[in-house]
Amino acid sequence: MTDRGQAPVAELHGVGPQVASRLKALGITCELDLLFHRPLRYEDRTRIVPLGRVRPETRVQVEGRVVHQEVVQRRRRMLLVTLADDTGQLTLRFFRFFPSQLRMYREGNRVRCFGDVRFGPQGFEMAHPQAQVLGKGEPPPLPKHLTAIYPVTQGLAQATLAKIIDAAVDRLLDGEIRLADPLGSSESPPLQEALRIIHRPGPEENLDALIDGHHPAVQRLATEELLAHHLALTRLNQARARQRAYALKPDEALQEKLLGVVGFEPTGAQRRVVGEIMEDLGAERPMRRLLQGDVGSGKTLVAAFALLAAAASGRQAAIVAPTEILAEQHYRTLSQWLEPLGIEPVWLAGKVKGKARREALARLAGEASIAIGTHALFQEGVEFRDLALIVVDEQHRFGVHQRLALAAKGSEGVRSPHQLVMTATPIPRTLAMTAYAGLDISVIDELPPGRKPVTTVVLSQGRREEIVERLRRALGEGRQAYWVCPLIEESDVLEAQAAETTAEELSAALPEFSVGLIHGRMKPADKQAVMDAFASGKTALLVATTVIEVGVDVPNASLMMIENAERLGLSQLHQLRGRVGRGSEQAACVLIYKPPLGETARKRLETMRETTDGFVIAERDLELRGPGEVLGTRQTGMLRFRVADLARDADLLEPVKSLAESLDVAGADVVIERWLGGAEQFVDV
Ligand code: ADP
Ligand code: MG
Repeated sequence: MTDRGQAPVAELHGVGPQVASRLKALGITCELDLLFHRPLRYEDRTRIVPLGRVRPETRVQVEGRVVHQEVVQRRRRMLLVTLADDTGQLTLRFFRFFPSQLRMYREGNRVRCFGDVRFGPQGFEMAHPQAQVLGKGEPPPLPKHLTAIYPVTQGLAQATLAKIIDAAVDRLLDGEIRLADPLGSSESPPLQEALRIIHRPGPEENLDALIDGHHPAVQRLATEELLAHHLALTRLNQARARQRAYALKPDEALQEKLLGVVGFEPTGAQRRVVGEIMEDLGAERPMRRLLQGDVGSGKTLVAAFALLAAAASGRQAAIVAPTEILAEQHYRTLSQWLEPLGIEPVWLAGKVKGKARREALARLAGEASIAIGTHALFQEGVEFRDLALIVVDEQHRFGVHQRLALAAKGSEGVRSPHQLVMTATPIPRTLAMTAYAGLDISVIDELPPGRKPVTTVVLSQGRREEIVERLRRALGEGRQAYWVCPLIEESDVLEAQAAETTAEELSAALPEFSVGLIHGRMKPADKQAVMDAFASGKTALLVATTVIEVGVDVPNASLMMIENAERLGLSQLHQLRGRVGRGSEQAACVLIYKPPLGETARKRLETMRETTDGFVIAERDLELRGPGEVLGTRQTGMLRFRVADLARDADLLEPVKSLAESLDVAGADVVIERWLGGAEQFVDV
């Protein structure tokens, strides 16, 4: 029993190498992945709304005759087109236009348009609709089902992706792709029907439920996905029970020396978790421990103790971070701490090339005891002499796949490296048990002394001028600030553009200060240069997308402005806010929202104002997660689930356990393979 339909996407009609690489960025490598790529939302193109019946703030399809066309000169040139049908009129507005559009909207032409309706100076209007000119004869038929809009990525157009997925859905419905359905009738709807509904819902389906995931079709997939994880982790634990590791013993003299260099006393919580870790490391069974600690709780020092134990035992340890910025920050901090002890860490990231790379590789295969870097440390061609410990920072950015690849890397014979996974995402214990099944958990539940909680205010974006004035005063006092522009559309291109525009505006509004800009589309070297300028105080204000969420430590920065705060999940807001309040200044966070504020969003922002306790925030997040949280869900995902969402689907966990028991080995293989790709990697890690 296997799935037919595992063709790599690159072999599909219409998928060239370029598109294939873009699909890969979305986690889509085979045909099945296409079927499991869930739409973000749906558009109703099954009907035409009469022009007299359109309502503002809706997204609709209309049809009409062009009765007027005019190019007007306002602040800039604009094209205005008036459409009419028997019931009324609608204005189309174009802020930019091409000569071809003047022809397309020639008076007398009939057009079909799709777009957002707004209330404008001349009544209802649509700006830049998607449109097609209708010929003289019968208009093309309307689709029978809703049109799915998928999450895309830079360089992959919605239309391209939709076409590829559409073809896969056709093959599924034709029976060309056959999906084994080991859960069969025990779960409804059946798998194939669930996929059909998700990609091609009829107009009668509950769309809100489809989008927020409460729809039975989505729940069906979520169940299977959670089941796949459960089964895989069970196998992992079984394999782990047979594994051996090297016992690592700390050296007290070195530990004392480290504390001397570091210059502060560990908190009680840091001491306690170091104790828990040392106990694990001292055994000949591989440690699998999750270290949870709020932003700023001092996880780096704990990691340093673990690394030191490996070095003191004559073996090797590696610490990996998901981004170069974060990895470099570790490299700097840990080098400073460890070099006085005679330990020189090796630095390895994707950008380390040529001679530097050869040297790094030689040291890893040779005398080096500590390696710091990105996942480049675990790529082909990197050989360790004797890797006995892996520390993974900010694990929520890695998926289960990488975690397993890391484990496989260090496995030599039956010895497997100890693993410490550090995360700043506070996870309620009930969920942590599942999200990190197979990991023991340590918690740093105390912040270093002297931290003042960040004060938080919530303001409407209508008060932007006031906010900018406040910023001017703070910068004038020599403070530094972040201004975060989070994702507001499903594309990092637009996110980067929004940040660029904001940086320009703020530069213009605050000419006396230097403004930096950082976003995810910049080259690592450029990002680093921008971060360095901010860390050294050369730039006063840093405009950023959410790339700063992880790993930035600039103690002088004491002000954090977050735009579109209502769009972000609580955990993410908490992560962002944690970037300030690390120095002696009283830090402040301004959450800027765009009205009107829905009930859930209001409660969320209130929570942020009321508490700075990560665990309280995490619990509240769970309660409040509601419809339309695609963004928050995606960003806070602890494990990278494709469909399941632990907050939403917590009640599926129990049923999943009994489903797991009812499956035979072949059925379990299908489910694991389908969702986690390749059962092999689970057996011998
Ligand atoms: P995180 O847990 O977010 O990774 P870090 O390890 O970056 O936190 O620590 C945050 C800041 O607090 C760093 O500047 C670090 O040097 C400092 N720090 C860590 N532990 C202590 C402590 N026990 N006393 C004082 N400062 C500490
Ligand atoms: Mg950290």
